[in-house]
Amino acid sequence: MIWMSKLLRIVHLFPELLNLYADQGNIAVLAKRAQARDCEVSVQRVKLGDSLDLENSDILVLGGGSDREQAVVAKELMRYRADLLTAIEAGLPVLAVCGGYQLLGHYYELPNHEKISGLGLLDFITKAGNKRLIGDIAISWLDEAGHDRGETIVGFENHGGRTIHSYPSLGRVLRGYGNNGDDQLEGLQYKGVVATYIHGPLLPKNPHLADDLLQKALRYRYGESFSWCSLDDQLAMRAHQFLLNRTLSR
Ligand code: GLN
Repeated sequence: MIWMSKLLRIVHLFPELLNLYADQGNIAVLAKRAQARDCEVSVQRVKLGDSLDLENSDILVLGGGSDREQAVVAKELMRYRADLLTAIEAGLPVLAVCGGYQLLGHYYELPNHEKISGLGLLDFITKAGNKRLIGDIAISWLDEAGHDRGETIVGFENHGGRTIHSYPSLGRVLRGYGNNGDDQLEGLQYKGVVATYIHGPLLPKNPHLADDLLQKALRYRYGESFSWCSLDDQLAMRAHQFLLNRTLSR
């Protein structure tokens, strides 16, 4: 049998606009961890005016940004709305952070009631509250059925928007605000989509979440026929534990 390495195509959407708190660190982690599983990796950076080739995308990454940048990206992505909808329904993995998360819904309503249109790929809205929700956050990670997976996700959040939705959440808030500061829920999962308010180095701090996304991407592209191995994450998990303890002790 001829052994062939699998190709994984990571598409980073609008890195020049949606890269608040260095969300691009998440790309580096996805790429490295895929390479460690003998995948050949390509990273395509789609900028304003570039075309998006969803046929050749195995995972999309959308970072966070300011309200202004969010509006520009929403307008730009609108021409792909129908194709994105089809791809998401077919299971295309998408990691969407903060402003990128809000973009997946119908709109983000500002305090003056102006609405920044989203793509309406998922059925939810976000409304700005009167104070920003800022700080370290820790959540217990939930599966799509809402069961505790026995692992935690840690990170940092900074958003004015309050999101309420009826999809499975990514986690239950242990410390911090999450989707809206009220219902103790954080993020959203739908098929291959993982959306969260947790910014910046989300995947460096949470290698188990990176692996979950990678497995989703490999399954989306290759079905169940991909080889998988665990990596030595002792150092990364020590950092995770340190952040978890620090966040919970506040
Ligand atoms: N418009 C968003 C908010 O403030 C996005 C913030 C972000 O991506 N950090 O809620």
